[in-house]
Amino acid sequence: MLDEVRFDPHAGVIVLQILLPRREQWVCPECFSLVTIHDYASRTWRHVDMFGLRFTVRSRVPRLNCPSHGTRRLPVPWAVPGSRFTSAFEALACAIAESTCVRAMATRLDLSWDEAHGIVRRAARSEARLLPMAALPRPAS
Ligand SMILES: [Zn+2]
Repeated sequence: MLDEVRFDPHAGVIVLQILLPRREQWVCPECFSLVTIHDYASRTWRHVDMFGLRFTVRSRVPRLNCPSHGTRRLPVPWAVPGSRFTSAFEALACAIAESTCVRAMATRLDLSWDEAHGIVRRAARSEARLLPMAALPRPAS
C-alpha cells in the first residue's frame, strides 16, 4: 500500500514509500512454509523517471527466519530479488538496450556499467527460463 509520496528538492527525487502489510508470519519464498519474521530492513529501488524527476520506491522489507532455508528477504512484487531497480525500470532499460546498446542505455539512464550489465544479465536469465515454455506446443482449441 502506498503510504507516502515525498519530494526531496535538493536531490530532485520523488520518494514513494510503500508499506507492506504488518504480519506476525510470512510465507518462505523457497518452501512456502509459514515462518516468523527475523527483522526488517529499509530498501530502496530506482523507478522510472517521470516529469524530469527521478523516482525512488522505499519500503521496510521483512527478512524471514525459515528453519529449512535460514534468513531470507521477502520478495517484493515490484522488483526481482537482488535488484535495486523496479521491474518497470528494468523493462525500460532493456527496451532502450535492444534499440541501441548497453552503453547507450547506461548513459541515457545515468547508470554505471555494472548496473546496466546487471539489468541485462537478469533479463537474459529470465528469458532463458521462459524459452522452454515458448517451445511447448499450444493446446488445440
Ligand atoms: Zn523455507
